[in-house]
Amino acid sequence: MAVKEFQAESKRLLDMMVNSIYSQKEIFLRELISNASDAIDKMYYKSLTDDSISFDRDNFYIKITADQNNRLLKIEDTGIGMSEEELESNLGTIAKSGSLAFKKETEIKDGHDIIGQFGVGFYSAFMVADTVTVLTKSADSKEAFKWNSNGADGYTIEPADKKHTGTEVIIKLRENTEDENFDEFLDEHRIKTIIKKYSDFIRYPIKMDITVP
Ligand code: ADP
Ligand code: MG
Repeated sequence: MAVKEFQAESKRLLDMMVNSIYSQKEIFLRELISNASDAIDKMYYKSLTDDSISFDRDNFYIKITADQNNRLLKIEDTGIGMSEEELESNLGTIAKSGSLAFKKETEIKDGHDIIGQFGVGFYSAFMVADTVTVLTKSADSKEAFKWNSNGADGYTIEPADKKHTGTEVIIKLRENTEDENFDEFLDEHRIKTIIKKYSDFIRYPIKMDITVP
């Protein structure tokens, strides 16, 4: 499978995330939940013009699954999903990202400011992740795809199995070091606190499922 390189600006932002010493790494959860919510919004708008989609509110939710045994954290949504091309353009480049669009390159130097105030979107997952996997199926397609990256070495995209439309972002958390402990992001109470702090306004239900050892 071919490994693709990130576009230059993406690479810079990504390096910034991978090497981030930013203390509030928890905001990655805010970014991923906001993307999940945006994706469900898009599904809702699509349902207004597409008779084949019925927007039954109960079927649209965000689900967070933490697996403490395997250090996996999953943020799943029943939103619009992404096609292969969308995976490529949305997660391989930052050209489309609204969060950085109004910041000039020279202003990106102070990473702290950007992360705190504007959010950096999807790539913020790399502040806490060894690898990020995105499993997704577009509302416009029968095929599903898997995007995978460890940040540094580019990314891969391959066909995958997924039954329902929507997206799963699966984070393999980094191992703890002397200076940093990532276990908190697998803790039910901690996750709930972060959600309350940053994502209280999200209009869709956020479900949780924690597997403890
Ligand atoms: P922004 O949300 O500001 O556009 P992000 O870096 O957070 O920037 O996300 C980049 C793009 O990736 C989004 O605009 C969207 O098109 C796509 N994307 C990210 N997460 C999801 C998701 N859960 N479902 C569908 N598309 C997504
Ligand atoms: Mg976003």
